[in-house]
Amino acid sequence: MIQVAVNGFGVIGRRTADAVAKQPDMKLVGIGKTKPDYKARVAAGKGYKFFVPKKDHQGIFSDAGIETSGTIDEMIEEADIIVDATPDNIGILNKGLYQKIGKPALFQGGQKHDIADLSFVAECNYDQAQGKRFVRVVSCNTTGLCRVLSPLDKSFGVRRARAVLTRRAADPDDTKSGPIDAISLDPVTIPSHHGPDVMTVLPKIEVITMAMKIPTTHMHLHSLIVSLNESNLTQDRINETFVEAERVRLVSSADGVRSTAQVMDYARELGRDRGDMYENIIWSDSVTVFDEEVYFFMGVHQESIVIPENIDAIRAIFGTSSKEESISLTNTTLAIPH
Ligand code: NAD
Repeated sequence: MIQVAVNGFGVIGRRTADAVAKQPDMKLVGIGKTKPDYKARVAAGKGYKFFVPKKDHQGIFSDAGIETSGTIDEMIEEADIIVDATPDNIGILNKGLYQKIGKPALFQGGQKHDIADLSFVAECNYDQAQGKRFVRVVSCNTTGLCRVLSPLDKSFGVRRARAVLTRRAADPDDTKSGPIDAISLDPVTIPSHHGPDVMTVLPKIEVITMAMKIPTTHMHLHSLIVSLNESNLTQDRINETFVEAERVRLVSSADGVRSTAQVMDYARELGRDRGDMYENIIWSDSVTVFDEEVYFFMGVHQESIVIPENIDAIRAIFGTSSKEESISLTNTTLAIPH
């Protein structure tokens, strides 16, 4: 059993902790948490153990009726690996702590590529993670782009990809961020950081991205144009490649899915934890070919798409399972079809 600690219990930490608890080859040592809020209370009900930054935080938790099991330093000592899901300014400081105690760690996509030895997407570079001390699971948008560009490249050869990213402005529980009534060019300059970030995982694929934020909290929508190295492309051939790809789900307007709202409703109908959609969503009827270029719309559920990648990255670092075994086990435990 790989002993896993999760430091930071927000959007990503909560989901990763639950996913770790579902793995037959992993044990959740505990959670690094600063505040005894409703998220802590629910997790305490699941039997999760809490560890706090300093001993004096323990009083704040006990005043709220939530037991703690020690400090985050003690949690790290107990763990084989730490999944760091703290805000980016904290994660970078935590790296020193993990280094000092000599434990491997995963960082998340808000961190820069150079925080880690490898930027990771399971399907693209699982084998390269073995033995690495620090691995960065790339952001939701980068994960989504890598999951589709890699199989397109394997099947047809990608000459160049262009994507316009329409991004949710804030996560559903974030009441501080906006925009409220605007479309913010984020950034105004082109390319946005997403394209170069894809190239930290897939260095041979040229990707140019533009991004904006809109007033919604559920999902990003990517509009892609991918130039391929083949001329006899058809919608069916492209969709077959997506059907074969890992963690990609095809939907269609004929089936009643016309927006991100229906995608989220679909995830709830599937009975997914928190209504999460771990897969890339591709509208099969949007897939259109003009000469050597393919166009399509793709949805990315920002809160959950990186959760299977965090689980695979843990196994990849320790080399306890092959890529295929790990992806299959993670998919089974999270009810992702494969
Ligand atoms: P979040 O703000 O939801 O959660 C961070 C948690 O860490 C909060 O609960 C905060 O209280 C806690 N925290 C703060 N200081 C701490 C400390 N010293 N010790 C322990 N915990 C501490 O953030 P998030 O959205 O989960 O983002 C975490 C990382 O994941 C970022 O790099 C982000 O870019 C990345 N990411 C986020 C999303 C998303 O859609 N939210 C998607 C993919 C990747």
